[in-house]
Amino acid sequence: MALDRSTIWPYRDGEPGEHYYQRNSHPNGVAAEHALGELEGGEALLFPSGTGAATAVVLALLEPGQTIALAEGAYYGTAVLFSTLERWGVRYIEFDQTGPPPEDADLIWLEAPSNPFLTMPNLDAAVASPARVLVDSTASTPVYLRPLEQGADFALHSATKYLGGHDDVLLGAVACRSQEDTARLREFRGKTGIVAAPDPCWLLARSLRTLEVRMERHTAHAQELVERLRAHPAVELVRYPGFGGLLSFDVADAEAARKVETSLRTIKNATSLGGVESVLESRSRWEGDRVPPGLLRLSVGLEDVDELWADLEQALA
Ligand code: PLP
Repeated sequence: MALDRSTIWPYRDGEPGEHYYQRNSHPNGVAAEHALGELEGGEALLFPSGTGAATAVVLALLEPGQTIALAEGAYYGTAVLFSTLERWGVRYIEFDQTGPPPEDADLIWLEAPSNPFLTMPNLDAAVASPARVLVDSTASTPVYLRPLEQGADFALHSATKYLGGHDDVLLGAVACRSQEDTARLREFRGKTGIVAAPDPCWLLARSLRTLEVRMERHTAHAQELVERLRAHPAVELVRYPGFGGLLSFDVADAEAARKVETSLRTIKNATSLGGVESVLESRSRWEGDRVPPGLLRLSVGLEDVDELWADLEQALA
């Protein structure tokens, strides 16, 4: 579909049509939402970032006094967001997502796999509880996990990562199982103006066409590098869920991690993940003591895998 940047569309016979004002809906947004909804097996809504999507879920679907149970070790920014929103009366507690969720939660917030610890949630235990369940499946993508089919109420993405896939799109998405939740979120989005613009939606629709083939290649490369990293004497621990392109590994300490970061030639020393180009960073610069000082997160791209290994090997030497 062509890119349409219009903010208004003329009424027909004095009546607004499907699209009339961009804050409410626009053709590129609807097209990308439709494509993502098909992949997730639900109705998808787009937001200007993954964090914007998370903000909308909390504010639109929870009440002051309610509690979110957040997976321990999940994306650092999610806990930062929830602490920011505590002023509005929404509490959050953290729990080990590999086990059963706490009993007093209203919304269980899982991450599959967690970033950067790469644990997978016990989704069965979560959906067996009376609380509603959200899975941030940014690093799995619907190629490897379709949370709605497994009983979750929401699948959330930072579409900035694998769904966009080229480090040129900032977007978030929520796919809902129930039409009622979709309607509430859509209404909240239009009223609060947390909306995604046409350009990134167009880029997302482009990227979804290659999602499966990209994910297969990310996985093949990551599996190969995991094997080689596990055998490397300077690597103390490798975390990898067995699929996808995201992994982390520990070197001895902060100094050793800094040396790897600054010695890389092919792999970029940059944040984020999910793009066709590999990026690596030490996470303690952002997360402090929450992560080991030697933890390096690597988002494995689509470059030649032997070239990637040669780069890691020289940086680890
Ligand atoms: N969820 C996960 C798992 C992430 O890794 C990130 C960003 O790194 C986010 C959510 C937030 O997404 P965004 O940066 O698009 O706001």
